[in-house]
Amino acid sequence: MNNPNQAPGILDLYPEETREAAALLKKAVPLMMRHDIPPNPVHYALWYTYCKGLEPELNRRLDKTVSDFDCFPPETATKLFRDYIIHDELEMARAGQQQVIDLVDDIEGNVSRSLLGSRNYQSSLEHGLAALQEPIIDDLPSVLNELQQSTQLMQDQQDKFLYSLRAAQDEIKNLRNQLERAHIAATLDSLTQVFNRSAFNKLLEQALRDDHHGAALVMLDIDHFKQFNDQYGHPLGDRVLQHVGQLLRDLLPPRATAARYGGEEFCVILRDCFDPESAHAFAEKLRLKIQALRIKVRRTDEVLDSITASFGFALAAPGDTVESLLTRADDALYQAKRNGRNQINPDPAKTALSA
Ligand code: GH3
Ligand code: MG
Ligand code: MG
Repeated sequence: MNNPNQAPGILDLYPEETREAAALLKKAVPLMMRHDIPPNPVHYALWYTYCKGLEPELNRRLDKTVSDFDCFPPETATKLFRDYIIHDELEMARAGQQQVIDLVDDIEGNVSRSLLGSRNYQSSLEHGLAALQEPIIDDLPSVLNELQQSTQLMQDQQDKFLYSLRAAQDEIKNLRNQLERAHIAATLDSLTQVFNRSAFNKLLEQALRDDHHGAALVMLDIDHFKQFNDQYGHPLGDRVLQHVGQLLRDLLPPRATAARYGGEEFCVILRDCFDPESAHAFAEKLRLKIQALRIKVRRTDEVLDSITASFGFALAAPGDTVESLLTRADDALYQAKRNGRNQINPDPAKTALSA
């Protein structure tokens, strides 16, 4: 199964424990105040991330913005938020982030109330102690009564605090799940359940960075798909695309990722793939499975047709970029189409496959 966790996770941004998150927020708020930055969720998130210090480029840009402008321009805040926090992919993250911030604020409020309670308790104790040290205590029952009430109050505050901490833990769990789902939805193609093009571009970039000599890019395009749609209608065409997505997910080797690159065009990144024969073998397996698909009428099981696909692939070479590798695989695919379709073509410039 295609593993969406291979995409960079939004949740990785917030691994902090509640206490650590509150500490970061406590650092962020004075900074925002110093620069007259209005308190809103986007600003909280930016300055919170600033205090974490894991995005040096964001810190540099925030420093520059506060030194260049008298007020913090909202459009800059939005852009930085998209570029560095939600990475332009998660609309739902706005809501999630707001909730995280509210939560941290809440916990901070509870901590303050609890501290205030302790201080009041302390002063009641001091008062009680002083009264007990008086030589004549007229009012011992009322002093003891007061102490007892303060103790009870303190106890109630601690209980409330514990209760709210537990509730916050549950809430954090829910938020994590919610953000995880939003993240997956934002990176997957909803029709075929393989990665979408924008997630794919990032994954390919990552593969080239991590694994420069062991990555191959396989591209496939369904043959004469326009004709198929014209003959059987778009909804059936959609079902075919779903089946191809399913086949890809079923056949992916470990560490490989599949994506729908465009309409009826899919891409696979093979990792640990050092030779054209391995890439070819994978493509051939897929080609045969696609060719063996039978498009049936749902209710009657009557076979209507079958489809084929053409493949191009290219192995990553030193100096390759996302664009250069895509271009080579695409050229190879184009050649496979020209050679008659339903076949696999390696990148002729870089791969020395004789078969
Ligand atoms: P070739 O063998 O040269 O690839 O021919 P082709 O007809 O597959 O290629 P062409 O680029 O001319 O047409 C692609 C077709 O794919 C056009 C469009 O109807 C179909 N298509 C693209 N996206 C979708 C989709 O989401 N659903 C369906 N059902 N069809 C789609
Ligand atoms: Mg096509
Ligand atoms: Mg096409």
